[in-house]
Amino acid sequence: MAPKGDNVVVSSIKLEKIFSMKGGKGESSYANNSQAQAIHARSMLHLLKETLDSVRLSSPEVPFVAVDLGCSSGSNTIYIIDVIIEHMTKRYEALGYDPPEFSAFFSDLPSNDFNTLFQLIPPMANHGGSMEETLAADNHRSYFAAAVPGSFYRRLFPSRSVDLFHSAFSLHWLSQVPESVLDKRSAAYNKGRVFIHGANESTAIAYKKQFQTDLASFLRSRAKELKKGGSMFLVCLGRTTVDPTDESGPGLLFGTHFQDAWDDLVQEGLITSEKRDSFNIPVYASSLQDFKEVVEADGSFTINKLEIFKGGSPLVVSEPDDAVEVGRALANSCRSVAGVLVDAHIGDHLGNELFSRVEKRGTSQAKELLEKLQFFHIVASLSLV
Ligand code: SAH
Repeated sequence: MAPKGDNVVVSSIKLEKIFSMKGGKGESSYANNSQAQAIHARSMLHLLKETLDSVRLSSPEVPFVAVDLGCSSGSNTIYIIDVIIEHMTKRYEALGYDPPEFSAFFSDLPSNDFNTLFQLIPPMANHGGSMEETLAADNHRSYFAAAVPGSFYRRLFPSRSVDLFHSAFSLHWLSQVPESVLDKRSAAYNKGRVFIHGANESTAIAYKKQFQTDLASFLRSRAKELKKGGSMFLVCLGRTTVDPTDESGPGLLFGTHFQDAWDDLVQEGLITSEKRDSFNIPVYASSLQDFKEVVEADGSFTINKLEIFKGGSPLVVSEPDDAVEVGRALANSCRSVAGVLVDAHIGDHLGNELFSRVEKRGTSQAKELLEKLQFFHIVASLSLV
């Protein structure tokens, strides 16, 4: 249950407690609005497989442990775990070994809708069968599954226990909105805005610092948890610009129609301008340079690959000429990822008002949205030094 908060500062602990993608299977749920992520992930499978080839194989007597960080509540995570296990099985078999047993951990913040995810995970295959039979059997899994609740900005696993970390479309979520961004007395106060896009330089610096601190904590924790020879495949929103106040795709998603919809609520007297200004989206789409600096400063990982990858539009529509469908897709996509935070800040009723305005604005700019709303992703393949 999302608390109806009036708190001006959303501390990292508070965000961790309430944040999730929209659960369940409803119209604006993440499970129903993550086709774009699925398409983008599929277009990067060759890069994931390169990372899988870099993982050092342990004895097949020891279970192989794969973790998906920021798994959410849709089926994308299950698909990826299947790809990982199938690929690793082939690697063992190519060397003439029977594959090991596999353990898959689905990890996300505690308020993630793990129940919906658990219902999507297929049953375990009959254990007597061979691995080939297991993999060929439709709708069965060939791994032991468990969920791990907690923030990936802290420790989640015992030392030296994980062979592979995977994380897709999650690391651009900061652990909190930087406190100075919500502090009226600070030069970084993001007056009039709900996102870094188009903000002033001090705001941008505060967001960037938060990203650097968070990513550094992430790397420190994973470096302890990975087995020697283990690897990570990380994908998160990136930007192609040097200037962080020009956030590329996410800038358009949260900095234009979403921003305008907040302004509508203020102008219509439904909320005060302070209420709007005390809300910010804790997302930072980093540049390759931003990301690289943090990995290098940490020093625990070799960079096998670090590139920016064009993912495409986050909007999946069946009739691109249908402006109403495009507007609805924008509102649903925005709500599936930011709806929980919005509802916690202004309540569900005003949340509905806000997203209906996002929809209206999206509908009136449908053509431009489909052309311009493009996401780029940072793709990083890292191995423990
Ligand atoms: N990997 C999935 C879902 C991405 S949605 C897919 O490919 O479709 C992003 C997920 O990151 C959300 O479920 C969100 O709860 C999670 N997330 C954000 N910050 C997190 C944190 N600090 N720790 C763990 N998970 C986090």
